[in-house]
Amino acid sequence: MLLSIVIPCFNEEDTLPETISRIEAVLKKIDSYSFELIFVDDGSKYKTKQILVEKCKINKKIKIVSFSRNFGHQFALDAGITNAAGDAIIIMDADLQDSPEEIPALYDKIIKDKYDLVSGWKQKRYDPLTKTIPTKLFNWAARRASGIYLHDFNCGLKAYKNTVVKSIEIHGEMHRYIPVLAKWAGFANITEQVV
Ligand code: UDP
Ligand code: MG
Repeated sequence: MLLSIVIPCFNEEDTLPETISRIEAVLKKIDSYSFELIFVDDGSKYKTKQILVEKCKINKKIKIVSFSRNFGHQFALDAGITNAAGDAIIIMDADLQDSPEEIPALYDKIIKDKYDLVSGWKQKRYDPLTKTIPTKLFNWAARRASGIYLHDFNCGLKAYKNTVVKSIEIHGEMHRYIPVLAKWAGFANITEQVV
């Protein structure tokens, strides 16, 4: 069983060393799966690529996809997913807003509980009201329109069965709608996990 973790990075030199070491620590505890970590350097300016290349020399499970310029979060995500070979694929941000310690529970929901898709639900948000109110409205509208009862369509932490992400095309800001696209593609076994 191969599991892929896809992490888009843009100028993440401050948090990246901690992100990598926390992921490595979490994965060390799970020896029943093999892993690949796919970091997509989205044309970062400073030391992001250097940190990744150094880590790659030590940890052979780390793979790097590198852009010559900044293409944006969604392109980076798409490139990472395209290169992911895992039976299950997790996407997460590099800035530690998503906690690496949630990884095992997300995988269990895909591998053991056989969900097609698990969407992270960030219950506690530390954003200003100018951000939380539009987000709440968006989530309400997305639930109404799609019939999928997720609280947090925007969360950067999600887990998929390989066949789900490989059978839908994600463009631009479409990542928020992956659960909807997955449902349309016939994958109805969707759940969420507080992260
Ligand atoms: N990111 C990227 N390219 C960009 C902007 C961001 O690859 O042009 C990465 C970033 O390093 C992070 C993730 O995408 O790992 C989410 O970005 P950000 O934290 O800025 O988004 P937010 O948390 O505000 O939704
Ligand atoms: Mg962030």
